[in-house]
Amino acid sequence: MRIDKIHNRTLQRIAEKVFNGIPVDSADAHFMLATDDILELGSIAHHVKTMLHGDTVFYGVNMNLNYTNICELRCPLCAYSKDEGDEGAFILSLDDIERKVREGDSIGLDEVHIVGGLHPKLTIDYFTEMLKRIKRVNPDLFIVALTATEYDYYAKRNHLSLEEVFQKMMDSGLGALPGGGAEIFSPRVRNRIAPRKISGKQWLHVMKTAHRMGLKTNATMLYNHLENPVDIVDHLEQVRSLQNETGGFKTFVPLLYHDSGTKIPAKRKSTTGYDDVRLYATSRIYLNNIPHLKALWMYLGDKMAQVLLRFGVDDIGATYHNEKVVHAAGAKTPDYGSESFLRNLIEHAGMTPGRVKANYQAAKAGFLS
Ligand code: SF4
Repeated sequence: MRIDKIHNRTLQRIAEKVFNGIPVDSADAHFMLATDDILELGSIAHHVKTMLHGDTVFYGVNMNLNYTNICELRCPLCAYSKDEGDEGAFILSLDDIERKVREGDSIGLDEVHIVGGLHPKLTIDYFTEMLKRIKRVNPDLFIVALTATEYDYYAKRNHLSLEEVFQKMMDSGLGALPGGGAEIFSPRVRNRIAPRKISGKQWLHVMKTAHRMGLKTNATMLYNHLENPVDIVDHLEQVRSLQNETGGFKTFVPLLYHDSGTKIPAKRKSTTGYDDVRLYATSRIYLNNIPHLKALWMYLGDKMAQVLLRFGVDDIGATYHNEKVVHAAGAKTPDYGSESFLRNLIEHAGMTPGRVKANYQAAKAGFLS
């Protein structure tokens, strides 16, 4: 990237900061979230991505395991949760889970991604036994399990400290944490979209505790509902600031909100390409201390996710065999993209696919057909 090729004066100043390793500020972020010069913005974001990862784009081959959809919180933003006794409410037994993981393992998955509802009757033993059984199926399976919201809830219900729960989970095979439950930290919005969920402050505290114990995690941000640019910049700032303290976030994952079956209408039924591009490029540039930026093709659609590979994204997500949560809210994408489908998206953007586990260590090479 050459700064003299950037004509927009403000973006030029932002590019100079990026070149000199100076973090951009909130005024820069507001400008980037509103600019129409998306190509110049993209060239800066792509420069950051290329400096970090060259032309590699990462992807995973994983399965989703949603252990229950029964949830005490019933957040207005959620289309997935049910009350006990509702039609379609379920809770998986450990035998069900082991069977599903065996099926997944037989087609060559690298990773199991586990999230679910907040079920008052579940104990920590259920989760530790779940992880041990998965490791018994195949000790090489990498396990990403439970959001900060789930850790907070199950620790309290089981009268354990967060540290005790993390230690038990790590001893049973936990590899990393997903970044869900962050939604948007702004209390004004959070109190409407997820009023009973832990506060943004508590979400950050749970993550800080996980980081202190050596666990790497993601951080998400849900957009396209009631948030405004001030809320977005505040969210980015709080994530960047914790990262300065702990260094424990490996990936930032913006999540496009889908509203089908929820109680909160989406800002737009479908965001425009410009909206998505601005948000991802701004995230890449603002979060200069987080190594990876992920665009989940399943939320955005494969075409938009592919375009974002030129706007700062270095990770296109995973195959997500058996995904339930975003599809409950109306995502139109298939719930399983094959490995060759993901590699094609990356290669047709002129980049090199890298199959990795959630810790970005190389997974076995090769294709699933
Ligand atoms: S978003 Fe999570 S915590 Fe809220 S109702 Fe849905 S499953 Fe429960």
